[in-house]
Amino acid sequence: MQKVALVTGAARGIGLATAQLFLEQGWRVAMLDRDVPALDSACAGLEGARAFYCDVSEPAEVETAVAEVLAHFGRIDALVNNAGVADFGPIAETDFKRWRNVMAVNLDGVFLMSQACLDALKETQGAIVNIASISGLRASTLRVAYGTSKAAVIQLTKQQAAELGEDGIRCNCVCPGPVRTKLAMAVHSQEIIDAYHDAIPLNRYGSEREIAEVIVFLCSDKASYVTGQVVAADGGFESTGVGLP
Ligand code: NAD
Repeated sequence: MQKVALVTGAARGIGLATAQLFLEQGWRVAMLDRDVPALDSACAGLEGARAFYCDVSEPAEVETAVAEVLAHFGRIDALVNNAGVADFGPIAETDFKRWRNVMAVNLDGVFLMSQACLDALKETQGAIVNIASISGLRASTLRVAYGTSKAAVIQLTKQQAAELGEDGIRCNCVCPGPVRTKLAMAVHSQEIIDAYHDAIPLNRYGSEREIAEVIVFLCSDKASYVTGQVVAADGGFESTGVGLP
């Protein structure tokens, strides 16, 4: 039986690279995103993949999309909660609407998708991988909403691992360092880019594929005794103790 991965935010960036790697490794993939044209074009020509349109912050849309995935594929073996938004700013300049938008997608979306997939994952003794960020591990002067949302995703992962282990469901978290995606390039100034290059031991941004490799490994049977872990795929940044730019 071919395994099925559900990847949110799969229309581009890390989510698309993850969907492509799952396919290369023989999985079938449910690709979810709210950006319909981008998802259609990303999914076109990917054999074994199917597009599902969904805003992960909307409970009703999540319920419908997961039901559609199960109607089409019949099972879910791995859930990758990757969809996210970035909105950088200090507390004085972050109004409540901006704060709520970040929390709704980055945190509520992970909660809602995980809850909706729970019964299916119990049946397959599947895995959840939540995508947080090094911004959830370190404080910075610019990331009151984004950093807080990602720190919460790290704790949510640990809660999930503690609770769902008895059902055979493994839950882990990946904290990417900087990757040149649309999301990052919208909020990384040249100053931030230069500072990252200096601060990261490998002296470079990561690629989408390098993050996808860690995600797919954690979903695979090769990681069968790994749960509740927070894995930084960040070129060594977190190990240095240097502050976020
Ligand atoms: P990206 O902008 O390339 O892709 C994000 C995708 O999520 C897009 O396709 C977007 O349409 C989708 N999305 C956004 N809100 C959604 C919603 N409400 N419902 C459904 N889909 C939604 O960004 P990326 O860099 O590939 O980000 C993927 C994840 O990696 C995010 O959670 C992000 O916070 C995290 N991350 C990225 C970096 C980086 O430097 N790129 C670093 C650390 C963590």
